[in-house]
Amino acid sequence: MSEPPGGPPSPAPLWTPLKLLSWTQGFFARSGVDAPRLTAELLLAHALGCDRVRLYLDFDKPLGEPELAAFRALVKRRAAGEPTAYLLGRKEFYGRPFRVDRRVLVPRPETELLVEAALPALPEGGAALDLCTGTGCIGITLALERPGARVTAVDLSPEALAVAKENAAALGAAVDLLQGDLFGPVPPEARFHVIASNPPYVPSGELPGLSREVRQEPALALDGGPDGLAVARRLVAEAPGRLLPGGALLVELHESHAEALPALCREAGFGRVELRRDLAGLPRFVVAVV
Ligand code: GLN
Repeated sequence: MSEPPGGPPSPAPLWTPLKLLSWTQGFFARSGVDAPRLTAELLLAHALGCDRVRLYLDFDKPLGEPELAAFRALVKRRAAGEPTAYLLGRKEFYGRPFRVDRRVLVPRPETELLVEAALPALPEGGAALDLCTGTGCIGITLALERPGARVTAVDLSPEALAVAKENAAALGAAVDLLQGDLFGPVPPEARFHVIASNPPYVPSGELPGLSREVRQEPALALDGGPDGLAVARRLVAEAPGRLLPGGALLVELHESHAEALPALCREAGFGRVELRRDLAGLPRFVVAVV
């Protein structure tokens, strides 16, 4: 019997984790994906249902076709601009895993600084309010870091609130979740030691220029109107009347609001107003005390 034309069929290349990671890293770098190696590792670990360390323990064990197919699908979606956190369905915040998907903004590490700054103002058994809660990351973290605190979290989006509810349940946090516009659903007589918020604050005109990843996040969570302050302005104006004496308001802000937002806080009657920067030195949030 003669060989088929062209010789015997060449065996399919054996894709080991190591080969796959190195190919994918290069592909991600060419596709403009941030942190190409880390992203490749996270997606491969997700496709294999293991953690990242495991990838290196089994680094030369060839993968099966179903695993490869699952990984390829993730790689394609990531290269097309889908945020890594949506592909994984989770994002760490303050050391805890939060469920995320297209219904919510992905928690950012910078927002952890706001939580850290809010904690000293929240006594044992105190009351905190998180407005525009999204995943619930601020309110849930406050509740877990201050057991015994009464935490209320509000979002305009019922879809976002459903995610916050799942997170509160999964993480075992007792948080009152209310749907509505800012203080709208909050009982009028309720007063708080802390009001914290990461409202939508991107000026509308900047939305088209955001990275393709951020543009896949809900516009409702990003769009702060023409000057970016549409939501923050209403929030700041109403906050003093909802705080207990000595209570603190913490609001995340756009780097262009370093003067405007503190000024709005002073106009609203806050006595002590401080601008805080993130680790990159960018203005990140304001702390205002009545
Ligand atoms: N920090 C977000 C960004 O990276 C904006 C979040 C917001 O508007 N609250 O664009």
